[in-house]
Amino acid sequence: MAWHSSGVSNSELIENLWRNKLIKEERVKEAFLKVDRAHYSPTSPYSDSPQPIGHSATISAPHMHASAIEHLLPSILPSPSRPAPRVLDIGSGSGYLTHVFAELVGSEGGTVVGLEHIPALRDLGARNMAKSAEGREFLDTSDSASTSTDSHAASAAGRRSSVNQRNPMGEVEGQGERKGEDKDEGKWDAIHVGASAREIHKELVDQLRSPGRMFVPVDDDEMGLQQHVWLVQKGEDGEVSMRRLFGVRYVPLGDPPRA
Ligand code: SAH
Repeated sequence: MAWHSSGVSNSELIENLWRNKLIKEERVKEAFLKVDRAHYSPTSPYSDSPQPIGHSATISAPHMHASAIEHLLPSILPSPSRPAPRVLDIGSGSGYLTHVFAELVGSEGGTVVGLEHIPALRDLGARNMAKSAEGREFLDTSDSASTSTDSHAASAAGRRSSVNQRNPMGEVEGQGERKGEDKDEGKWDAIHVGASAREIHKELVDQLRSPGRMFVPVDDDEMGLQQHVWLVQKGEDGEVSMRRLFGVRYVPLGDPPRA
């Protein structure tokens, strides 16, 4: 399916993803049409393939972004029971997907946080977002898309399996505890992980609201030769189910760079 959706413009790329049923919901199509991939991908922005963005990172292929959004959608869109969705994009890199999330979450009080542990890429993501009026609006509203290098939060997504010597989600987790009343306050309706994890970290699953969803690529063997995307779903009753979706090739999650 890769490359078959490439176009010569943003709208052609998105129309092709739609025609190939990689984007299935009208609402998702509208969001993707609003975000010009050329603002985020320095090379071949309308090719349905990953592109380098520096620092050994890549902007993922459009069909992969489409799949991530489609799988997380029920947890992203505002609804009467979830008027202000909270979305965490771990490994936000170019900032492209963070921006698409922000379009879907809307401006009625939802929150989208892009978490990027390489400061130069964090800055790149913010610069890319500032290239469009919509992106600037999201950057300007404190409730909307933001980028962070919170090292505690970043370490939660690290590849080590024992991340519990430190509070894995740092302040993010603390928020929920301090506010106290709603056990899910400060947690996330949707978590997207943009780099491959060594396992499905319990710390991240714990950060999901009930209901909530996480899209996470996972190394399926010790050598890191196989990766599959997993969809983790937490039900209203807190019950967690996990489904393996498809094989992928993502850059690995890493520990934060030394200052
Ligand atoms: N989703 C982005 C980037 C994907 S590349 C896009 O499509 O543009 C994966 C990104 O994850 C890289 O930018 C890398 O620096 C970042 N990353 C890796 N490990 C991380 C960690 N532990 N915490 C935060 N970001 C991390």
